[in-house]
Amino acid sequence: MNQEVCTDVLMDYDALRDVGSGLGTAAVIVMNNQTDIVRGIQRFSSFYKHESCGQCTPCREGTTYLQRMMDRFYAGQATEKEIDMIFELSKEIEGHTICALGDAAAWPVQGLIKSFRHEIVNKINQFKEKNGGESASLGGWTKNGKVLDGTIIGTPHVHDAHHH
Ligand code: SF4
Repeated sequence: MNQEVCTDVLMDYDALRDVGSGLGTAAVIVMNNQTDIVRGIQRFSSFYKHESCGQCTPCREGTTYLQRMMDRFYAGQATEKEIDMIFELSKEIEGHTICALGDAAAWPVQGLIKSFRHEIVNKINQFKEKNGGESASLGGWTKNGKVLDGTIIGTPHVHDAHHH
């Protein structure tokens, strides 16, 4: 939720559900506007991927994808199109798993996109500026390699591979 929604909403289960959020286990995390919200959600995705027991496929595979994509969003190494893709992916996890961990992994990503989409777009644009106007292609490939936990690691550009 962004500040606007937070200011008016009642902190109970029904009201939070109505604004597309949730009280979860009733633990509330308040972050100030200095917080890198993309980094925050990326860290959540990493946590849920780690905690997934692997029993159901949407959660096991889905949390892995969420983590990989959120890693790249944090580094800005993504395309805007992938914001809609990760949202769709989270919808495939939500409600399709045995326990609540699947939902718990999907909701923070959905909340990020609903309320802070522009923060992801900013990172994508910053990445592009840093790389001389070159944005990442779908899947995050650039000549600077791919991203692990928000850090770019050296892997040859997928197109460069053809020249060697
Ligand atoms: S939803 Fe629950 S049971 Fe299914 S893989 Fe995830 S942690 Fe395991």
